[in-house]
Amino acid sequence: MSTSTLRTGIAATVADAREYFRTGATRDLAWRSGQLSALAALLTENRPTIEQALWQDLHKSATEAQITEIGGTLSDIAHTRRHLRRWVRPRRARLPLGLAPASARLVTEPLGVVLVIAPWNYPVQLLLAPLVGAIAAGNAVVLKPSELAPQVSSTFAELVPKYLDPRAVRVVEGGVDETTELLRQRFDHIFYTGNGQVAKIVLRAAAGHLTPVTLELGGKSPVWFDDDAHLAQVARRLAWGKFTNAGQTCIAPDYILTTPDRVAPLTEAIAAAVTEMWGEDAAQSPDYGRIVNERHHARLVGYLADGTVAFGGRHDAATRYLSPTILHLDGPGAAGEGPAVMEEEIFGPVLPIVPVASPGAAVDHIAAREKPLALYVFTASAATRELFVAESSSGGVGLDVALLQAGAPSLPFGGVGASGMGAYHGEYSVTTFSHRKPVLRKGFALDALRFVQPPFTSAKRRIAAKRTGAS
Ligand code: NAD
Repeated sequence: MSTSTLRTGIAATVADAREYFRTGATRDLAWRSGQLSALAALLTENRPTIEQALWQDLHKSATEAQITEIGGTLSDIAHTRRHLRRWVRPRRARLPLGLAPASARLVTEPLGVVLVIAPWNYPVQLLLAPLVGAIAAGNAVVLKPSELAPQVSSTFAELVPKYLDPRAVRVVEGGVDETTELLRQRFDHIFYTGNGQVAKIVLRAAAGHLTPVTLELGGKSPVWFDDDAHLAQVARRLAWGKFTNAGQTCIAPDYILTTPDRVAPLTEAIAAAVTEMWGEDAAQSPDYGRIVNERHHARLVGYLADGTVAFGGRHDAATRYLSPTILHLDGPGAAGEGPAVMEEEIFGPVLPIVPVASPGAAVDHIAAREKPLALYVFTASAATRELFVAESSSGGVGLDVALLQAGAPSLPFGGVGASGMGAYHGEYSVTTFSHRKPVLRKGFALDALRFVQPPFTSAKRRIAAKRTGAS
């Protein structure tokens, strides 16, 4: 496609979405609910096609796709449909006595036209979960799936217009050129999920239109471990959290901090858990994923030289396979001076175990770095749990478990600092894609406003001083 065709095509798509939004069609609650049902139908009626696309893009097994992509989105839709009316109904707001007589309410209104830019690692869920919130809030939506999950991208480009209102929900496929062109347009909200580098491009483009953004980013999510009594159970939860989707999960445990004496038993226990879940040779397991592309595969294989491979380390560029791998490091090193595996988000099946002296040293290590998206603490000590919760900042925390903090629609999901801004899921999604507008009415009876209007006599001055607490 030539640059000018691309430009006019994208500009026209966004302009038409805006025109449709202005008709008010997307504000109607019955429309919103109907669109959510249609999205559920899209997922259930095309399940095999979607599973096939996920298998082709990421070697994702049908069961894993069901658990982490399709099933989660379906329950998100059901939860949203169940509560939507209550979430968006106008609420009476209290006013201070000084404003009486008057009344106020909060009206939840849609923002307008929303752009959703999705990544490749959970290409279904991370495209559709923001869509659920945006539709529920009554917006028109432009979806930009990741070009790095091409089968999923083309599947949704084909299915979305068949199931959803085609003037309200658009899919624009493509990579950098198309996204750059999209970002030139004025949106009322941009919801971006992906890496921090591109997030800066998105934020800069949004600034040009004063468009609010949600940035769902990543980073290194650390783990603290000292729970010897539950070693095998912890290892199983860690192995699952880390190696699901071949480690390509934004909230996957990135690396483990533990005391030196625990490195060997933990390594052994995680190795046993991996073997139990994916067999002696994960390459043969139908349940183990592949790295998304050659560039990421080469990057991950490069990390193996940053420490000692204590388990796994098998790789094959032709099939983009990298086995579940545990890497031993001598120590955490100073911030900014560690090997690449300790400085960059790993985003793959390489799990460093790093000895530190104590939980306090681990907290210092975490606090000296960018705020993570997730922090995981596996300990039998309530004091240690509280130490991490109170003295470190992260998007969310998992105690004795990984990943689950992102799975409940009643909890906001998002980062803080370098791991992102804004949050969503359940009612938080509706809040993200809405404006809560205060509407105040003051009738003409008992016109107390006269007391704050000129001319300011000494009596009015006394009243003003009393109301503001000045003497
Ligand atoms: P990606 O490469 O698919 O990029 C994400 C989106 O950005 C794509 O739609 C892509 O087309 C677009 N894009 C890429 N380059 C661009 C450019 N120069 N200008 C404009 N748009 C551009 O995905 P990714 O960034 O590799 O995803 C992995 C990262 O995302 C990791 O850091 C991970 O932690 C993070 N992530 C975060 C979450 C979350 O919910 N917080 C979820 C998944 C992934």
